[in-house]
Amino acid sequence: MSKKAIGILGGTFDPIHFGHLRLAEEMLELANLQQIRFIPTGTPPHRDSPQVSAQHRSAMVRLAIVDQPAFVLDDREVKRTTPCYTVDTLRELRAELGAAQPLCLLMGGDAFLQLHTWHEWERLFELAHIVVGYRPGFTLDDRIHTATPALRSHYQRRLCAADALSQQPAGGIAELAIPKLEISATLIRSRVAENRSIRYLLPNAVADYIHQHHLYEHANY
Ligand code: ATP
Repeated sequence: MSKKAIGILGGTFDPIHFGHLRLAEEMLELANLQQIRFIPTGTPPHRDSPQVSAQHRSAMVRLAIVDQPAFVLDDREVKRTTPCYTVDTLRELRAELGAAQPLCLLMGGDAFLQLHTWHEWERLFELAHIVVGYRPGFTLDDRIHTATPALRSHYQRRLCAADALSQQPAGGIAELAIPKLEISATLIRSRVAENRSIRYLLPNAVADYIHQHHLYEHANY
């Protein structure tokens, strides 16, 4: 019997919102994952620094996932003091979980098309599968011509069905059609800074936390 795969969802989660949670819920179901680990970034190599501390971002993830036992907070990146890369986190997880455990790195289509900019990106395929969510009606295949030749070649060689992922520990690329909610952390930060409502964009417990701790009130979103 092959083991069910573990999904890994990295993000700044500044703050976590229903866009992230729906993405995770859909991937859990469609890729038949046993668990999804939410891994908030520490010092992100790819983007501007988060607006609030790693401790606050982790605390909000913890509150957001409390009702879904298959969602787990993994705060290893926020505990590190040096910048860390996804490839290093995957190496750690692989060492902890063993060579046979299927791992799936979860991301959106936009992130996948920029994968060649990630540190040691070709090593990622040795450590995990990559599961890409795309908007229904726009397959990744329509946009893969915008990727670099090296990334396109990996895509063409590695593409497989999501239900085949648990048969191998790593190395596949699967695509899943997932409706994208029009919610972003940027939108939420700007609403808070403008003293506007953020209700129904994220879990109530996270909204309460933001207000209690006066987060994002002076954000330059
Ligand atoms: P920001 O607005 O600050 O750029 P964000 O809302 O895009 O942040 P991230 O923490 O950067 O959040 O996202 C983590 C992951 O979640 C990424 O893979 C991203 O593609 C995905 N994601 C973010 N928002 C949505 C959404 N509304 N629907 C589906 N996936 C999303």
